[in-house]
Amino acid sequence: MEMNKYQLLLEKQRNYFRTGATLPVAFRKKALQTLLMAIKKRENEILEAVKIDLRKSSFEAYTNEIGIIYLEIKHLMKNIAKWAKPKKTKIEMFLMPGSGTIYNEPYGTSLIIAPWNYPFQLVIAPLIAAIAAGNTAIVKPSEVSQATAKIVTTILEESFSDNFVAVVNGGIDETTALLSLPVDKIFFTGSVPVGKIVMAAAAKNLTPVTLELGGKSPVIVDKSADLTLAARKIVWGKFNNAGQTCVAPDYILVDKSIESDFLKKLQEVIREFYGENPDESKDFGRIINERHVARLEKLINSNKVVFGGKVNVNKKYIAPTIMVNVTLDDVVMQDEIFGPILPILAFEKIEDAISIIRSFSKPLALYLFTKDKNVEKLIMERVSFGGGGVNTTILHVASSHLPFGGVGQSGTGSYHGKAGFDDFSHKKSVLKQPVFFDPGITYPGKQISLKLIKMIMG
Ligand code: NAD
Repeated sequence: MEMNKYQLLLEKQRNYFRTGATLPVAFRKKALQTLLMAIKKRENEILEAVKIDLRKSSFEAYTNEIGIIYLEIKHLMKNIAKWAKPKKTKIEMFLMPGSGTIYNEPYGTSLIIAPWNYPFQLVIAPLIAAIAAGNTAIVKPSEVSQATAKIVTTILEESFSDNFVAVVNGGIDETTALLSLPVDKIFFTGSVPVGKIVMAAAAKNLTPVTLELGGKSPVIVDKSADLTLAARKIVWGKFNNAGQTCVAPDYILVDKSIESDFLKKLQEVIREFYGENPDESKDFGRIINERHVARLEKLINSNKVVFGGKVNVNKKYIAPTIMVNVTLDDVVMQDEIFGPILPILAFEKIEDAISIIRSFSKPLALYLFTKDKNVEKLIMERVSFGGGGVNTTILHVASSHLPFGGVGQSGTGSYHGKAGFDDFSHKKSVLKQPVFFDPGITYPGKQISLKLIKMIMG
């Protein structure tokens, strides 16, 4: 049977990988440096593209899409040599004489599929982890954020030959074709339903898969919280990129006793950040397309809106919107919102907040605002979530020292910094024993007594 163009591309990358070209640390560092320079050269074009796709301000686009990548590339370059080195381990007495070594082996060929909401960062961040770990990569940007997909293609094509890093553009058909390839590793960022499709496709070839998904990420505002600080950090985390952030606060659980004070603060802060008319603010983004505006509009129940609520389909604009007295039956609570609508639910006891969170699948992020150490301990110990913050929102994703990923329905596997290197590496464990001495205590005929082996192993 004749190979299709994707099979040929994979074949090319597999052959290249098998030459060993990607293995030397010097090669990986050079590749990262090449990419860094290519991004620097085209910084303005990237900012422009992201503005076309999502109307992100230059500040927001620079920090979220580019700056964060520079920091991560530098962190990887500084540490690859250390991480890639084989690691000696201890071994048990009954295995002696000998030594244990863990080799960090690149999987080989990888496939990276990205979403549209951070259309530059979420293509490049997994790619640099794949390169740092010594893999080749086929990269599939989102077809929804077309302007950014175009500049990503330009940058990667001018930086690398396609036997090492290749870009494939397209939508469902192209991604489906790519997913049928027997690559050595799949890294997917996107929605839960598509995550299931990806995992099913990976299962056919038993390909290891990392899924960076989404879900409903809660914020808890405890009665001891600093309300001004909570309001500022929540408003910033929620309305950044018009709410289209996988780790954005999805809904707020607030202690009833402070609800009305907190609501006032929230509204003050939105006015302070985005003015009386956020439509005119350069700092407030747009919804990716009209389909998503229509989807979001249906989540707004005007009877429950206390702030915002304005929608303009042609401008792809949805105002920062707060809804109160929300219950779990409201449509806004059925799925991840992924837009600038903030529902507020009040609770009487912290245990009630925990039960609400547990009524959903395990969230990608959770944020807690409190000064009470006991509340903090309770939430950290008893609630499962991908990652998050105490008295802060979304910034945990910005540290190369914190593995980032979901749990359960919000994803599997993690990356950023060493976690990304590990995610794209197989740990090859090898026991080496000397040739000059073979005690053979396990061989039939030479076995030591059961009593002795019980003393050694029991
Ligand atoms: P999506 O799942 O629709 O698309 C992601 C990618 O999958 C795109 O490249 C797309 O072309 C491809 N795709 C779409 N439908 C497909 C299908 N039927 N078969 C094969 N491939 C298909 O996600 P999106 O709308 O681009 O992004 C939004 C979602 O991503 C949200 O749920 C958000 O929470 C999540 N997300 C997660 C993270 C994270 O790091 N965990 C980051 C950003 C976004």
